[in-house]
Amino acid sequence: MSTNPAVPGATLAASGKSVARESVDTALIQQLDSAHYLHPFTDHNALKAKGARVMVRGEGIYLWDSEGNKILDGMSGLWCVNVGYGRASMAEAAYRQMQTLPFYNSFFNTTNVPATQLAALLVEISPPQFNHVFYTGSGSEANDTNVRMVRRYWDLLGYRERHTIISRVNAYHGSTVAGAALGGMAGMHEQGGMIPGIVHIGQPSYAQAGQGMSENAFGLVAAGWLEEKILAIGPEKVAAFIGEPIQGAGGVIIPPATYWPEIQRICDKYGVLLIADEVICGFGRLGTWFGSELMGIKPDLITFAKGVTSGYVPLGGVLVGDRVAHVLIEKGGDFNHGFTYSGHPVACAVALENIRIMREEHLVEQVAITTGPYLKAKFGALAAHPLVGYADSCGFVAGLNLVRRTGATVHECEHFDPAQGVGMICRGHMFDNGMIMRAVGDRMIIAPPLVMTPAQIDEMVALIGYCLDATLADLRRRGWT
Ligand SMILES: *Cc1c(COP(=O)(O)O)cnc(C)c1O
Repeated sequence: MSTNPAVPGATLAASGKSVARESVDTALIQQLDSAHYLHPFTDHNALKAKGARVMVRGEGIYLWDSEGNKILDGMSGLWCVNVGYGRASMAEAAYRQMQTLPFYNSFFNTTNVPATQLAALLVEISPPQFNHVFYTGSGSEANDTNVRMVRRYWDLLGYRERHTIISRVNAYHGSTVAGAALGGMAGMHEQGGMIPGIVHIGQPSYAQAGQGMSENAFGLVAAGWLEEKILAIGPEKVAAFIGEPIQGAGGVIIPPATYWPEIQRICDKYGVLLIADEVICGFGRLGTWFGSELMGIKPDLITFAKGVTSGYVPLGGVLVGDRVAHVLIEKGGDFNHGFTYSGHPVACAVALENIRIMREEHLVEQVAITTGPYLKAKFGALAAHPLVGYADSCGFVAGLNLVRRTGATVHECEHFDPAQGVGMICRGHMFDNGMIMRAVGDRMIIAPPLVMTPAQIDEMVALIGYCLDATLADLRRRGWT
């Protein structure tokens, strides 16, 4: 696999676009960045030494940095730029709304036009049990909302003990205090990110825990951990279970087909509310409007953010199913919760335009029927590369595991020592060659913009192959493989 793809070395000049690399003083921006900007999830000292890469422009699936390098964005920004970069109509929607009514709150018995229209549209495109929306500014705030809403739900029904929420190891549910606690990342829990009443079970990672079982048998075992936990705590204390249909930041963990239906059965059996965190899986990523549809489950609450606006402006929220909405509305009184930017008119106007584009261009159907299966075939073929042990995908998320071959076949391989940081080395080669692919340990993952065409999938897979070759050569020089 040594195709030399078109992208490495391509420059702005070659692309014929005129964003002026001269107009951005990279050194100055890096200096200001290093002096004043504390980045999220970053070792600030290490970044200071290296200097941040300055992104200046995006178009379709490509980004350009301040040095004029063209980069293929395999991560849709951060799992969000579903309709691709550079959509003028999104900017126009924001501009029109800012001129008309840039802001008004939804407290004090008021509303605004885009927030109302978007709520109706979200109800239209979501599964039938959803007729209400609660808006937030982000996915994290939406999961905070879930924590308070499910506890409120049980309080209103008179079950004041029923407050525990069960989540999973290695889950990602955001970075507010409740988001971090719901998530299953030890590194976040250790840094002030834990609150009482949240517990975790194992994740349905077949690669990690499925030895000696078929995938489907393992799916039932992993779902069974939920029932064990419910019984250990006492069903009368369990408010809800939360999970991403496919775990994203945890490394694109695609569960066996048996997993989610069994989770649903267990939640139903004990009356436990089911929350699907669809911040990544929602808005077409898996070839359905919502990932729960693909997994065959009927959640009571859906967390959304990211793809709802394709990341052009921040917006998040919770789709509230009839079971919960009915209790909140009928038995309610005040629900003392909300945000200044709940139902922000500009964000909602941009979301309306985003969904209009997705429908007009049939992006969800495209991922389901054409480009998703095409990506599966092409990306799956990377498993033949001598550095790859396993490659899988679902819709427009995909991941491959970097391994050391000990024999000629895929089955004869072993993991690298995590301390060697092989995933990060590979990510470096990707970055240097104009490809953005994220490393989660030694698993390399992508979530491309939904507008990616088959020709661009070919280009991306060739580029990944080229970077895998570069990584393998590097590891051989180090004597690691
Ligand atoms: C990104 C993400 C969040 C957090 O969303 P923010 O907008 O960053 O607060 C929550 N859940 C999942 C599954 C995510 O991927």
